[in-house]
Amino acid sequence: MLDPFGKRAEGLIKEEFGDIITFLERIPSALSIDEPVAMIQLLLESENPPQELIEVDNLEELRDLFKFYALLGAASISPYGLEAEIVKRAALRLYSERIKASKKLNETMLPVTPVEKDELPHNDLNILERRMDRHLSPEEKEKLEIKYRIPLKSFLNLWTGSLKEVYIRNGHAYLRWETTLKMWEKAFERRFERAINLLYDYRDELPEFYHRLREKLEEIAEEYFKERGEMFKGTASPLRFDLFPPCVKEALKGVPAGMRNYAITVLLTSFLSYARICPNPPKKDVRIKDCINDLKIIEEEILPVIIEAGNRCKPPLFEDQPHEIKNIWYHLGFGLTDSPTMEDSGNSTWYFPPNCDKIQTNAPQLCKPDRYCRGIKNPLSYYLKRLYLEGKKKEGETGE
Ligand code: SF4
Repeated sequence: MLDPFGKRAEGLIKEEFGDIITFLERIPSALSIDEPVAMIQLLLESENPPQELIEVDNLEELRDLFKFYALLGAASISPYGLEAEIVKRAALRLYSERIKASKKLNETMLPVTPVEKDELPHNDLNILERRMDRHLSPEEKEKLEIKYRIPLKSFLNLWTGSLKEVYIRNGHAYLRWETTLKMWEKAFERRFERAINLLYDYRDELPEFYHRLREKLEEIAEEYFKERGEMFKGTASPLRFDLFPPCVKEALKGVPAGMRNYAITVLLTSFLSYARICPNPPKKDVRIKDCINDLKIIEEEILPVIIEAGNRCKPPLFEDQPHEIKNIWYHLGFGLTDSPTMEDSGNSTWYFPPNCDKIQTNAPQLCKPDRYCRGIKNPLSYYLKRLYLEGKKKEGETGE
C-alpha cells in the first residue's frame, strides 16, 4: 500500500468495514499493541526504513493498514501532542520511501496523471528538460523530466511557491518527480491532521486499545524528543491570548445581551479553563482536581478574564445576573456554588469547549474563521494547533 489515504486504502476500508469508525473498532481484535509500536520503533531507530516495511505483499496489505490506522486512532486522542507528531513523522517517512521504491505517485491521494508522450509541445520540453544540454548526466536528466500533470485547482491548494517556477497548460500544472513527491508529502500532512481532528470527537468512544497505545507512544515520543525539549507538547502553561481562535477573541471583546450566557459561561469558561489547565485532555471526563492542586490558577488567571469579558458585554453580564458566577463554577465542575474548595471538583461536569458546528449554530456571530480554522472542529484544537506551530517555529529558529 503506497498511501494509507489513497483510493486503494479507502476502497479496502469501505468494502471490508463500511466506515472508518467500524474499521477502528475492529482493529484491536486483529492486532496487538506491540505491532504498531514495533513498527514505529523500527522506523525511528533505522536510518533507512527496513526492507520488510517497504515491501508488503498483498496478503499483508490489510494488516499493514491496521497498523497505520491503529496509530492514527491513538494519535487522535492527543491531536497536537508529541504522540501525533511522532506518528506523522514516522508514517510520512515510511510511505514516502514506499513511493520512491515504486516510482509511482499516481496511485496516491494526489490527483496526478502521468504525462503522455507528445502531450506537450516539443519546444517547451526542450527548454523545461534542457534536452539540448549535453553536459547533463542521466540522473540529472531524469530529475528534469516532466512526469505528472495535476489539475490547477488541486495544485494551487498545495503550492506555496511562485507560479513562475511552474509550467502551466490547459488548466493543469506539469511537475517533475521531486516536486510531485513534495506535494504528496504536504497533502499527506494535511490529510493526517484533518483525520485526527475528525477522530478527536470520537476519542471517548474508541476502545481502550487506543488509549493504551497512546500511552506507549507518549513514552517513545518523550524519549525521542528529549533533545528538543517540550516545545509543542501542549501541557499546561500560561495562556497565549495571541493564539486564541477568532470566536474566543470575539467573546473576550464582550457581546450583546442575547449571546452573553453562551459566549461567557459556555464558551469562554470551558475554553480558558481547558486551555490553561489541561489543553490536551486524554479523556473527556477529566476533573480539574486531576490536573491541579489548588484553585489559584482559576482564581487568579481564569476568573478575572471571564469577569472582565462579562463586564464588556452590553449590558454587563454579572451586573444584572450576579448569580451567573455560580454557573461559571458549575461549568468548571464544582457544582452550583460561589465559594468552592478543591474537594468540590467533580460535583458537576467540567464542560468541554463546544465544537465549532455548535458555536456556528448557537452564536454564529462569534465564528469568524481565519486560515488556521481549516480542518478544525473545536476551538481547543485550534489553540493546540497554534501552540504546536509556534513550537515548531521556535524549534526551526533554534536549529538555525
Ligand atoms: S471555525 Fe471554530 S475555531 Fe474557528 S472561529 Fe469558527 S468556531 Fe472558532
